[in-house]
Amino acid sequence: MCGMKFDIITAFPNILDSYTNESILKRAQEVSLISIKTHDIRDYSEDKHNKIDDTPYGGGPGMVLKAGPINRAVKAAKTENNSRIILMSLRGKKFDQKEAHRLVKYNQLIFICGRYEGVDERVARYVADEEMSIGDFVLSGGELPAAVITEGVARLIPGVLGKTESLEEIKGTYPVYTKPEVEKINGEDRKVPEVLLSGDHKKIDEWRNSF
Ligand code: SAH
Repeated sequence: MCGMKFDIITAFPNILDSYTNESILKRAQEVSLISIKTHDIRDYSEDKHNKIDDTPYGGGPGMVLKAGPINRAVKAAKTENNSRIILMSLRGKKFDQKEAHRLVKYNQLIFICGRYEGVDERVARYVADEEMSIGDFVLSGGELPAAVITEGVARLIPGVLGKTESLEEIKGTYPVYTKPEVEKINGEDRKVPEVLLSGDHKKIDEWRNSF
């Protein structure tokens, strides 16, 4: 069994290594519930200088990632029929918990990470299945957005979360406290809410459901 595949097409293949090789995502890969692979766009350049970007038609600042190398990288990465090719884009659909539940149904997600001034529009039109944004703010590349979606989706796969994390849905979130019962913060004794110490599980549930 090889689990769900996450493939990240990027000009900076090492940028996410330290994040994806720790904690939950590390363990999930070790037990083959998921695999996370990065693909260097440069490996798919057919240019003798390994060029992957060029100036925009029509003028203007910055560089644009070329469509060809990205298209070839996606082709090489795609191993599953039930896959989704997602271009990270500010113009995309907003990622949220509902989207995470939709995406976890695929066997493979292939993320295309933009950089610089963006990606040749032919990638959005003819290579990607959809475009996705993680919110209305501009980052310098699609790598962090791809990691955000990877983690949001991966934790929905049964077995990915260990005993120390729970599959908490947005609506089910409530404040949590741990030891000690009284913590001095800036000179004040800050206490854990009484109800949590009461041992009355009905009351505790009511309190948690009130958020
Ligand atoms: N001037 C460009 C900015 C590109 S930012 C524009 O207006 O579109 C460079 C790349 O980072 C984008 O191509 C996209 O892949 C990624 N990116 C930046 N912010 C993002 C966000 N909030 N969600 C998803 N991808 C984002």
